[in-house]
Amino acid sequence: MDGPPTLTHCPYCSLQCGITLRVAPDRVHLAPQEDFPTNRGGLCSKGWNAAELLDYPQRLTEPLVRDRRDAPLRPTTWDDALDRVTRAVRRSQQDYGPDGVGCFGGGGLTNEKAYHLGKFARVALGTSQIDYNGRFCMSSSAAATTRAFGIDRGLPFPLADIAAADVVVLVGANPADTMPPAMQWFDEGRSRGATHITIDPRRSSTARGSKLHLQPVPGTDLALANGLLHLAIRHGHIDTDYIAERTCGFEQVRRVVRSYWPDRVERITGVPAAQLDEAAGLLGEASTAMVLTARGAEQHSNGTDTTSAFINLALALGLPGRPGSGFATLTGQGNGQGGREHGQKADQLPGYRRLDDPQARAHVAAVWGVDPDSLPGPGTSAYEMLDRLGTDGGVHTLLVFASNVAVSAPHASHVAQRLAGLDCLVVSDFVLSETAALADVVLPCTQWAEEEGTMTNLEGRVLLRRKALDPPPGVSSDLQILRALAERLGCRVAFADRPREVFDELRAASAGGLADYAGITYDRIADEQGVFWPCPNEEHPGTPRLFADRFATPDGRARFHPVQHRDPAEIPDAQYPYYLSTGRSRSHYQSGAQTRRVRALVTAEPDAYAELHPELARRIGVGPGDFVRLHNRRGSAVLRARITDDIRSDTVFVPFHWGGEATANALTNPALDPVSRMPEFKACAVAVSAVDARHP
Ligand code: SF4
Repeated sequence: MDGPPTLTHCPYCSLQCGITLRVAPDRVHLAPQEDFPTNRGGLCSKGWNAAELLDYPQRLTEPLVRDRRDAPLRPTTWDDALDRVTRAVRRSQQDYGPDGVGCFGGGGLTNEKAYHLGKFARVALGTSQIDYNGRFCMSSSAAATTRAFGIDRGLPFPLADIAAADVVVLVGANPADTMPPAMQWFDEGRSRGATHITIDPRRSSTARGSKLHLQPVPGTDLALANGLLHLAIRHGHIDTDYIAERTCGFEQVRRVVRSYWPDRVERITGVPAAQLDEAAGLLGEASTAMVLTARGAEQHSNGTDTTSAFINLALALGLPGRPGSGFATLTGQGNGQGGREHGQKADQLPGYRRLDDPQARAHVAAVWGVDPDSLPGPGTSAYEMLDRLGTDGGVHTLLVFASNVAVSAPHASHVAQRLAGLDCLVVSDFVLSETAALADVVLPCTQWAEEEGTMTNLEGRVLLRRKALDPPPGVSSDLQILRALAERLGCRVAFADRPREVFDELRAASAGGLADYAGITYDRIADEQGVFWPCPNEEHPGTPRLFADRFATPDGRARFHPVQHRDPAEIPDAQYPYYLSTGRSRSHYQSGAQTRRVRALVTAEPDAYAELHPELARRIGVGPGDFVRLHNRRGSAVLRARITDDIRSDTVFVPFHWGGEATANALTNPALDPVSRMPEFKACAVAVSAVDARHP
């Protein structure tokens, strides 16, 4: 007989679709929640198949260790595994100081785990070296929205508001493939006559459904945004009252965009001036409009400035804070929003507080029961930490949670070398990911449906992940692992391992911060289908919409920020004549460690592929399904050719969900944005050649 239904959420992307699980003797049945306000009964193929891994035969259920670097991993007891980690931590601390030990987290961790990982690093390890894979994902938008609006919440309004916008501009976003259930809000707008404009070097599924598709050269979105603002000013579409009353800094931006006249923007971006004019006209004449950016705008060495350019456009048109209008960023990872609020980022304390702010340190130290002066200062960003592993001044023992850096970090061969140079690599995971396979100690952890916790979706809505079944024997939750390690290390500060207790502590630590969860309880989340932060007390209704009256800056005004186009750090040349752009496909998620183990998803998309324009395919003599080799200054990858005129003829697109020879990140450039420290995943130079048909 089936067990009672458990209302919970899909484990994958930031939409966090509402689902129901029923545990039967033979399997776990999964169905969408018809009335959940974001997905309203919709799920994508990843969500429909999410229960498959709950009884995955190769699930890790015992800790694994290796006795020498060249020895295979072998099972061991928890005591042995945790003792080894403890010894490695102590040794690295002794030899290199507290910063000889580091933690690497993930945007898939629950809020409780992300919070505890930050506390564990600063209190139990005393290290400044903690960052997470969200640095690769949303940090440019976080930096740009923080400097413009004083706060970083991906959507400062509920998803449903998208249906009310007459014009929606999507920049480097492909929700039709990456989060299909969200498209119902776009479709609802379209059915009332709304116009959608997509800016993307690929004619993605989202672009195909849009009225207008602008297809710029990779790395030129900033110039395009400045060009659109130039036209908005020229045609008198800017909202001068809004600019005067609600913003500051417009005059410098006006001066900068004066030189982005359409012919020049066409030369930089490759987008015809007539299309720019059409887009600017549609946007400028709309009574409600939204500008939505995603990784396509962000994952550049100028990603923060690119996002700022689109914020400037939205502010000049008077969109943020107006009903049915606004600027927003579509978050990617499941807890991409909450994961960047509560302290697993190098410069941050819970509640979106800054680690270098004395008041913030005092507040959080009081919650943790430690001296504020004992807290380390800000550490290094994700790629910078990986880049220095095992070197002078770098981390020598690394603890990785919910991340598969061997596949997801840029310049993968270099990162693999650095991981190999560690004294000890510890990975907590429930499958043997590419990173876990390199580890000295692997700790088998619980999966999403085997534990409770909270996640914060792309709207800033805090959601409850409920437990539907017990984990298999031999498996621990990350909270239990952190507690056990803290105790072994002799840490005198308590580490609770029950999610509700940890959440109550998080509420106290976040109280008064930008991301204030103080008024959010598990019961409220359950009763209200999620609660939007900030929510400073239990009587507060939560905040679905930000910026209606003021922005979160000291004077309540949004800030314009003048920005100039600059080329990607690496552009095509005679040796490497094409742009490489990377991204997600419809059937897989992030590094693919989970989705590459799900039969239906593997059947739908069995192999990594490279999208090539027919002209390029002809030039190198390959047909559909043939293997091609991409190579550049950092590495190479072998992939099946997918020939399509959806891609620009100067650009190759590769999804980043696969490892081994098909690792897209073997090629990507770790050039970092100077503000967000986000790597340039979306543009580098590659050469493409046919591979012998006998390639295995
Ligand atoms: Fe899961 Fe995202 Fe798909 Fe929804 S859209 S089912 S949250 S992967």
